[in-house]
Amino acid sequence: MKHLWMALITLGLLCGTTAPAQAAPAVWASKNIYVYDKTPTGHYPVAQAAEYWDNDTKTNVNFIYTRQPCAAGTQCVTVTEVANLAYPAIGKASRHLTNGVVVSATIGLDSKYWKTENYAHERSLICHELGHILMGPGHSTHKNSCMQSINTGDKYPDADDLAKVRSLYKLP
Ligand SMILES: [Zn+2]
Repeated sequence: MKHLWMALITLGLLCGTTAPAQAAPAVWASKNIYVYDKTPTGHYPVAQAAEYWDNDTKTNVNFIYTRQPCAAGTQCVTVTEVANLAYPAIGKASRHLTNGVVVSATIGLDSKYWKTENYAHERSLICHELGHILMGPGHSTHKNSCMQSINTGDKYPDADDLAKVRSLYKLP
């Protein structure tokens, strides 16, 4: 009987902490999203990080890496180096919406981070910021996900991240 009580209490707590339903996050309108890399050559592996999200053939997302400014009217993520991010931030992402639809975005990467961190950490950072560009502000609690809020290793979009992107960007 005692065990049943414990089970009921636990169940009650779990139900009590269920988050309320949230409005669907804003998404991009169409498949092709240009990633305009303005960072200095050799500093950040922007193209390699973009491939992680782009390689999932089950989503309607196509990141197109470019070193050329995006053409007018195209969906564009501009990636730059930025100085003096407030510690402990090493990157930032912001999305610009028109009528509730994402039309462009910017990513800022700390101008010092590439000097002190290894390739895997740099790529994980960019993977993280590109994830925000697609999904909005949420973070993952999974240790192998690049959407974890702490950048501690070689991380990727994990199965849950990709499932979320697939639900937001269904193939037509
Ligand atoms: Zn984040």
